[in-house]
Amino acid sequence: MADCIFCKIASGEINAKVVYDDADVVAFLDLNPQAPTHALIVPRRHIDRLTAAADADAELLGKLQLAAAKVAKVLKVEGAFRLVTNNGKGAGQSVDHLHYHLLGGRKLLWPPG
Ligand code: AMP
Repeated sequence: MADCIFCKIASGEINAKVVYDDADVVAFLDLNPQAPTHALIVPRRHIDRLTAAADADAELLGKLQLAAAKVAKVLKVEGAFRLVTNNGKGAGQSVDHLHYHLLGGRKLLWPPG
């Protein structure tokens, strides 16, 4: 998508602190971290949000989860982290490109706010 900031990060047009990438997935540090470790895991291919994914995206969604586990290891929080997606404005989604937040490095409360 031409004006999507995460598409631009995935293509390298905009710089980000990339911590993991492969053919389908890019992960980078969040600009406004909500925990000592806060990375975003995004598919290179644009999908607006989880509810915009189709059955044909099943493999890609699985790859995102596996990439998240790798990112947790790279960032040394594999023992305790949270993986969350905000789906829709009411849930706090501000960037319309599917992404998972990986949060760690502090005590994470439940339920979340
Ligand atoms: P959400 O509010 O769930 O859509 O999450 C979007 C996240 O993207 C927020 O946590 C922002 O801090 C983060 N963000 C926005 N622009 C950038 C950027 N250029 N590089 C890194 N993180 C970003």
